[in-house]
Amino acid sequence: MVSANEYSSELEVAVTAVQQAAMVTESVLAERVTTETLQKKDRSPVTVADFASQAVVCAALEQKFPSDLVVAEESADALRSDDGVELCKAVVDHVKAVVTLAQENQVLDWIDRGTAESTQGSDRFWTLDPIDGTKGFLRREQYAIALALIEQGEIVLGVLGCPRLEIGPDGDRGALLKAVRGRGTSMMALHQNPSCEGQSIRVSGQTDPASLRFCESVESAHSNQSHSARVAKALGITADPVRMDSQAKYAAVARGEASIYLRMPTRSDYRECIWDHAAGSIVVEEAGGSVTDIDGCRLDFTQGHRLEGNRGIVATNGQVHDAVIEAVRELQN
Ligand code: AMP
Ligand code: MG
Repeated sequence: MVSANEYSSELEVAVTAVQQAAMVTESVLAERVTTETLQKKDRSPVTVADFASQAVVCAALEQKFPSDLVVAEESADALRSDDGVELCKAVVDHVKAVVTLAQENQVLDWIDRGTAESTQGSDRFWTLDPIDGTKGFLRREQYAIALALIEQGEIVLGVLGCPRLEIGPDGDRGALLKAVRGRGTSMMALHQNPSCEGQSIRVSGQTDPASLRFCESVESAHSNQSHSARVAKALGITADPVRMDSQAKYAAVARGEASIYLRMPTRSDYRECIWDHAAGSIVVEEAGGSVTDIDGCRLDFTQGHRLEGNRGIVATNGQVHDAVIEAVRELQN
């Protein structure tokens, strides 16, 4: 059991960093994602938001924990190149909206703080997805800013900022979920005071197939939807899947809105990135659920930037976990 004060400064910094990053990503969404960019399938707004979000989070981590490594999705190489001048200016402008005095060189260096090559031999590092669910971001649907702290291979803290996730009965959007190992998962409105405890959340207790819902990626390239449908059928699940982008799927399981998140591999050689699962998986586990790969093995965060020893993901309310793994195993026979 973790004592009440352990990780309190890490949690506060992580929550504030994710809140600031969400301000940046939402401002990019408001100002740069237009009908025209969508029609042209122009990905430049998400690129600006990705870099700016990473800069803001890495700046906050650097200030408070200067010796901690960060493994994040982006590097500033493209912004440093001759072709990157305009993009770089846009990124710096958006960062300045929350870090007023930020200079261009600082912004580039903050982004590159996230490029820790190797975590081998490192007792402690952060992992960040500055925008998880880029397609959802562009569609103004679900996306997440996902930050987690890993010590000796174990995730000890996770924060998921979900600017588009509904919260409360009025349909307001913007939820932040946070978990510290041994202390449960709680949720608050995205821009509430960072020291606010939030409301404790739990997975669903459902086991009856007729009331089970499962969620999966919108993108069929990221998760084999026909395999998921077969697993669901074998389990007797009748409801249609809830399809959503990003680690908001972990939030759906942690909040009890879905009982299962299935991520069936689309290729035998694909290995999941650690930043796509670290924050989400502790949020589900601390809400009382279980997270493994599709073979029922623990996720192994000691293998570098990817989960080299795992295939796919199964996250559940815990009670139905073994049944899901068994159904997946039978599908493969
Ligand atoms: P989702 O929003 O659940 O569809 O997941 C988005 C994440 O899928 C991105 O952050 C990518 O890192 C990851 N991704 C990209 N290609 C694949 C793939 N072939 N299989 C599984 N995940 C992928
Ligand atoms: Mg991602």
